[in-house]
This record gives sequence, C-alpha cells and structure tokens, in this order.
Amino acid sequence: MRDAEFFRRWMAAATAAVDREAARLTELDSPIGDADHGANLQRGFTAVLAALEADPPDHPGGVLQLAGRTLISTVGGASGPLYGTLLRRAGKELGEAAEVGDDELRRALYAGVGAVAQLGGAAPGDKTMLDALVPGVAALSTSYRAARDAAEHGALATVPLRARKGRAGYLGERSIGHEDPGAASSALLLAALADVAEAAAAEDAAGGAA
Ligand code: ADP
Ligand code: MG
Repeated sequence: MRDAEFFRRWMAAATAAVDREAARLTELDSPIGDADHGANLQRGFTAVLAALEADPPDHPGGVLQLAGRTLISTVGGASGPLYGTLLRRAGKELGEAAEVGDDELRRALYAGVGAVAQLGGAAPGDKTMLDALVPGVAALSTSYRAARDAAEHGALATVPLRARKGRAGYLGERSIGHEDPGAASSALLLAALADVAEAAAAEDAAGGAA
C-alpha cells in the first residue's frame, strides 16, 4: 500500500527531474513553442513542494489534489492547467483513504489522463503530453518500469508527428521532426514514479531481510 509519504516523494522526485532537465525541456519548446516549458514546470513543481511542506496532507488523494491545484495556480502556460488537472483528478479519485493500492493508483491516473484529454481536446497522435501519458499509464498494469519505458518511447515517437493542438499546432508541417516538450516532461513524471516505487520496494526488501 502507498501512503501520503510515497506521493510526497513522487512529487519531490518529479521536481528534481524537472530541475535537472529544465534546459532540455525549454530547448524542445524552442522550435515548436515559445521556449518556456522547462521554466514553467520548474516554477510549478517548486511551488508544489513548498505547498506540500507548508501544509502536509495526511492522505495520498490530498497530496495529489494540492499538487494539482498548485500547478494550476502557478503555471501560466498550457501545461499548468493540464498537469494540474491530471493530478487533481487523480487525487479526487483516490479520495480520503490513508493508503491506496497500486490498482487504485493506476485507475486514478487513468481517470486523470481522461480529464486531460477532455480539457485539452487532444487525442494520442496529436503530438502532445498525451502521447506519453496514455501509453505510460496503460503500461502501469504491467509494472512501474514498463510505464516509464512506454512513456519514454511515446515521447520519442512524437518526433515524426504533426502537431494538432497547442502552440505547436499553429506550425502545421513545420512541427514535424521535433519531440514534443510536454510528452518529454510526462515521461519524466512517470520515470519519477517508477523511481520512488523501486526505492520503496528496495526498502521493503531490506526491512524484510532485517
Ligand atoms: P505553452 O504552450 O502555453 O507555452 P508549455 O510550453 O508549458 O505551455 O507546454 C507545452 C506543452 O503542453 C506541449 O508540448 C504539449 O505537450 C502540451 N499541450 C499543449 N496543448 C495541449 C492540449 N490541448 N492537450 C494536451 N497537451 C497539450
Ligand atoms: Mg511553451
């Protein structure tokens, strides 16, 4: 079972990944956007960690809802409301339970991805974050590692696609040949989840051995 601390660790790992990769995310957002994706997410996730520290929720749903609300209120770009909706909706699905199972987490994220699709009107193949989120969350039924790999693969597979949504959509054909920045950051989010799940499994194994 996963408690609030697991979800706080996930958000901390995501923040670290965004910090580490901010320059690359902004670079990806240069040819097909406005070169702010790294900075947008850095600002947003830094605020998420501060909010979680200031008033730590005691249940997983509360962590994700606070993270989502914070992203919506601090990120000006399109990605803020979209990621905010992903986490807020997933948090609502988890409700008030003090601990949640992996199946519940998977179903909650699935609902969150559906909310992103509804809000942004995009579908897989449109060269957006959904091209990493949809296969990534689907692969959670196999394992966290499979989810990370599927999301990374999905992000790289946006390179030959033509964008149909967001700023890149205005470029039409000229969007072809570039990786979508939001798909790249979605892969980071799921990689962060896989990392904390692996760390938790290692801790459990060490605890069991002691
Ligand atoms: P902005 O485009 O406002 O500058 P960001 O640069 O932070 O915002 O985020 C851009 C990313 O947001 C894109 O790479 C894409 O993945 C995602 N995005 C934009 N519009 C949509 C949409 N309608 N549906 C899903 N994702 C979208
Ligand atoms: Mg941008």
